[in-house]
Amino acid sequence: MLENLTQRLSRVVKTLRGEARLTEANIQAALREVRVALLEADVALPVVKEFIAQVKDKALGQEVQGSLTPGQMLVGVVHRELARLMGEHNEPLNLATAPPATVLMAGLQGTGKTTTTAKLARLLKETKKKVLLVSCDVYRPAAMEQLRALAQQVGCEFFAPEPDEAPEAIARRALAWARSHFFDVMLVDTAGRLTIDEEMMAEIRRLHEALKPIETLLVVDAMQGQDAVNTARAFGEALPLSGLILTKLDGDARGGAALSVRHVTGKPIKFVGVSEKLNGLEPFHPERMASRILGMGDVLSLVEEVQRSVDRAEAEKLARKVKSGKGFDLEDFKAQIQQMRKMGGLSAMLDKLPLQVSQAVQGVPLDDRAFRRIEGIINSMTPQERAKPEIIKASRKRRIAAGAGVSVQEVNRLLNQFEQAQKMMKMVSKGGLQKFMRGMRG
Ligand code: GDP
Repeated sequence: MLENLTQRLSRVVKTLRGEARLTEANIQAALREVRVALLEADVALPVVKEFIAQVKDKALGQEVQGSLTPGQMLVGVVHRELARLMGEHNEPLNLATAPPATVLMAGLQGTGKTTTTAKLARLLKETKKKVLLVSCDVYRPAAMEQLRALAQQVGCEFFAPEPDEAPEAIARRALAWARSHFFDVMLVDTAGRLTIDEEMMAEIRRLHEALKPIETLLVVDAMQGQDAVNTARAFGEALPLSGLILTKLDGDARGGAALSVRHVTGKPIKFVGVSEKLNGLEPFHPERMASRILGMGDVLSLVEEVQRSVDRAEAEKLARKVKSGKGFDLEDFKAQIQQMRKMGGLSAMLDKLPLQVSQAVQGVPLDDRAFRRIEGIINSMTPQERAKPEIIKASRKRRIAAGAGVSVQEVNRLLNQFEQAQKMMKMVSKGGLQKFMRGMRG
């Protein structure tokens, strides 16, 4: 799903380069791209406009941090705003009431309402709830049979209606049954129509009145795009909805409904349907969805990593040292490798690093064991040797190797790697570390 949106947004990262701050001028083209991407994904125009304004507002004047590019910074902002658009956090089902917690399911025919009711029962059963399934769809015997069969599949009790019983009568009787039989939750499926119709709305309002459900969930079909959003708006005006369930997200290549329905209705998306199977219902997490839409978990986690785990003081000390021309010694080298290690899985890290830096450290096998060996070698050196590695000649090398329990070749290899890093740091000293890193990423 959402492939086009993902592709377009990933291009945004590449269009921005080389500046220290996000400005109106440098983000304009990128924002245009985001706008087109959202419109193509069938997000409603007013939502797109407001979204772009928000992103611009949040992005402008932001300083580009650490080794990130401006494009990556902007993606960080877009990610946060996308998550916010979809509701920020997961809103769980509210069952905090005297049992049975009644959940009324509303929605048009064919959206997946009945299937979703069974899927929800299955999820609740997993959390050890005793669930009663009720169908008030008296117009379509097949729908009632469908729920009965699904109830059996998920191992929940189905409440059997009397012949010719009216929807409200079924609901009342089911509620009394659920109370007297100590059900934790009662899920009530209702009749859907093909389009919004006053009779259907009146009936579900009466059911709502009779049951006083703690949750009234509207099931909408994500494949219907803006129509789904309009349906949700209409239901929201007729019924006090407590949340939405978006089905068939697995089949939706555009994804616009997921992006605009929360904003348009003001109701949280609580679950999403991701397959036809009974285990295909998931709690909705706006932030994870935003990451999936951006399709760039790697960039996003890099943004987070840089913000979280780069030891600022350490980095600045190093930058000052390099700037002051005092040179880069083996202690600094050790600190640098240590920092890289902190930034997480190192082979993954290498791909994210600027090309030249990756190349410079490529010879350094950066798994934990290799790192400990490097550390061991540096630790076997005297402070004088660490500060002035050029004094390390043959006899010192032999002593260091013996001290660290490695071969002389390994000491040589380390010194070579250090020399390369040192050369790089000399280049850096002119422009400042951060600018240098950024320049290279472009
Ligand atoms: P209802 O008329 O609203 O009760 O709809 P149903 O529950 O009968 O579902 C209609 C069709 O949608 C069925 O074929 C379901 O298997 C399918 N369906 C429901 N939810 C999903 C979903 O999340 N993904 C996919 N791919 N299909 C779904």
